[in-house]
Amino acid sequence: MATKYIFITGGVVSSLGKGIISASLGKLLQARGFKVTIQKFDPYINIDPGTLNPYEHGECYVTADGMETDLDLGHYERFTGIRTTRENSITTGRIYKTVIDRERRGDYLGKTIQVVPHITDEIKRRMLRQDVKGEDLDFVITEVGGTIGDIESAPFMEAIRQLRWQLGRDAVCVHLTYVPYLKAAEELKTKPTQHSVKELQGMGIQPDIIVLRTERHLDDALRMKVASFCNVDLECVVQSEDLPSIYEVPVSMQRQGLDAAILRKIGIPVGETPAMKAWHDFLNKQRGAKREVSVALVGKYDLQDAYKSIRESLNLAGIYDDVKVKIHFVASQALTRENVADRLAGMSGIVICPGFGQRGIPGKIVAAEYARTHDVPCFGICLGMQMMVIEFARDVLGYADADSSEMRPDTPHNVIDMMEEQKSITQMGGTMRLGEYPCQLRPGSRACEAYGGKGSVAERHRHRYEFNNRYREAYEKAGMQCVGVNPDADLVEVVEIPSLRWYIGTQFHPEYSSTVLHPHPLFISFIKACIGNGNAEA
Ligand code: GLN
Repeated sequence: MATKYIFITGGVVSSLGKGIISASLGKLLQARGFKVTIQKFDPYINIDPGTLNPYEHGECYVTADGMETDLDLGHYERFTGIRTTRENSITTGRIYKTVIDRERRGDYLGKTIQVVPHITDEIKRRMLRQDVKGEDLDFVITEVGGTIGDIESAPFMEAIRQLRWQLGRDAVCVHLTYVPYLKAAEELKTKPTQHSVKELQGMGIQPDIIVLRTERHLDDALRMKVASFCNVDLECVVQSEDLPSIYEVPVSMQRQGLDAAILRKIGIPVGETPAMKAWHDFLNKQRGAKREVSVALVGKYDLQDAYKSIRESLNLAGIYDDVKVKIHFVASQALTRENVADRLAGMSGIVICPGFGQRGIPGKIVAAEYARTHDVPCFGICLGMQMMVIEFARDVLGYADADSSEMRPDTPHNVIDMMEEQKSITQMGGTMRLGEYPCQLRPGSRACEAYGGKGSVAERHRHRYEFNNRYREAYEKAGMQCVGVNPDADLVEVVEIPSLRWYIGTQFHPEYSSTVLHPHPLFISFIKACIGNGNAEA
């Protein structure tokens, strides 16, 4: 079968959950036995979101091949289990860089380089994944960031228009809009959707499917109105109502026949509706999980999206143990020795978040100290692990001035130090230790047990600093074990204190590889420890 292309655009407002719809559609097509990938095109100029502050764009997600990407790729992976790559996250910046580099090399042989056709051709090439070798995909789902009408997304729309023409029935356009409810009038309004579709039509794109985001149930009359105003069939107007969990969305879309409508448009026999047993089993567990367990998330950014993958990993791990994980954000910059007992009271576990720079560092160290001295299960991730290491040096090894050279370059006890290969790097973007690296686990350690006794694993990274091996022996002697090590570079990847209930720090980011059907083993093990410490609520 020739590869089919589905384009997903959004209108009216941003934050409608295009990423969730794209991921859900990927899941549904996968359930029908198709080979699928999902990619995101973002209209901003940054080459990748690696240099963006989380307040700007939420979490930066990292692929196994080391690309810093949009957090929607996390949804794609969690829903479908697909492993995305650097080809699945493209920005305007990357498109322009490719074209400009080519122009400087003289590849265009004296031509004037223009948005149309040079930029749009490059967008098309990437939408078709022409650089990716050896892929045998049935479907490529392409989500375009931003909202219809944005000046910056115009070249992407033009590329879709051209591809649509070129590919004929092998391309389908899905448009996601918003239907607001006006309380005073007690009415749901379709006008913004009509305008958004008109705008799209003005760019030469007729949507095949319209997904209506809504906080209230939409009746058939309203869907009919949208269908007739927007030139689509009634069965091609589906609604995406607010649901108790994002993981209910694929099932709701399947019930309304979103995937079937797409197959009909393309001309593929629809066949039976897949049962998706494992997914339904998961949803039943999620619906049934009543007991709550409180986990503190000690970090800098009080924003749902900032630690998206960690939040989802905690929730998913809990569901498999029939508990609802209640995440309490604790601002590290406001955490002190004086208030820590109060702020962390009632918490069954503590996660110390990744991060960069000075702000909130003392608070993270205080949280690590509190967890260690009160034996509260504690999971330190990347910077969180580094803070566990610093805290241990200060309090147990007796180096009061121990620090990371990121925070204090001249510290005499640099227990966390810049990696050798990072020292000559001057550029910020894409230059960290990124992506998947192997890690050897010490048999018998708690970390190794969590992985089911596996001696060797591979996890994703995003950091410049590392555990300083000069201190390894001192740590081991004093009770903090270096139980995970990179076999090639001898970098410490996992530390733990075996005498405590659960005190593990990982230099890598396990949250990036947790999926709905396979939550990460370290999160599962951590949540089990949280439940077991007697603090879980009935
Ligand atoms: N700032 C630390 C480093 O670069 C930790 C990075 C992180 O938490 N992702 O090593």
